[in-house]
Amino acid sequence: MKWFNADLHIHSVLSPCGDLGMSPQTIVDKLIEHKIDIFSITDHNSMKNFDTYYEKAVENNLICIMGIEVQTQEEIHLLAFFDSHEDGYAFSRELYDSLLPIQNDPEFFGDQVIIGVNDEILGFEEKALINSSIWSMDEAYAKVEEFNGFCYPAHEDASSFSIIAQLGFIPQHPNFQAIGISAKCNKEKLFTKYPNLKNYTLIRSSDAHYPQDIASGFSKFFINEPTVDEIKKACSGIDGRMIIS
Ligand SMILES: [Zn+2]
Ligand SMILES: [Zn+2]
Repeated sequence: MKWFNADLHIHSVLSPCGDLGMSPQTIVDKLIEHKIDIFSITDHNSMKNFDTYYEKAVENNLICIMGIEVQTQEEIHLLAFFDSHEDGYAFSRELYDSLLPIQNDPEFFGDQVIIGVNDEILGFEEKALINSSIWSMDEAYAKVEEFNGFCYPAHEDASSFSIIAQLGFIPQHPNFQAIGISAKCNKEKLFTKYPNLKNYTLIRSSDAHYPQDIASGFSKFFINEPTVDEIKKACSGIDGRMIIS
């Protein structure tokens, strides 16, 4: 097994709140500068830029895991990851169809740019991506499982779009194996406030929307190979795998 540095929560130019400077080359350059081995582009409710960032990652010997940030009916953000691109795309198509039919307002929310490897604009997503699915958290979790993915709450220390912020507590079901925390999260303070979070494996990531924030938060994975399956096993500490965040 070996150690990998991972930043699993980064937004591309497709997220309306993402800076237009979050181009494939810029993201890859920043990841290399900060010695990150594994990353994931987790745009809100869409994977339409995955292929481009994946191709750029391969060119630069980085591992790009397929991911997405799901916004559930309760306005909870879950990060979902897939080893099989076919499964991930199938999941994202169903999620897209479950989004409320609201058009994006670029002037208010920002452009949702579908980009190519050489920064060429391939198109614009017109459905508002900062929007909720009609799926509840339970339903979203079940869908991720159905498509052989792995998911956990994105940023449990955040004052909005986290389970605690929306529900006031973390329910027993679904049985998350990990909890995401943001770059600035102070774990001791978090545990003092919510002692039951000590029962979870924490995964820290940057949630970068701007180039300067890439790798501002990351985790170290001790795993066999850089796959979602291995990360999932590391969350449960199987056979010596571990996560430091
Ligand atoms: Zn979020
Ligand atoms: Zn995010």
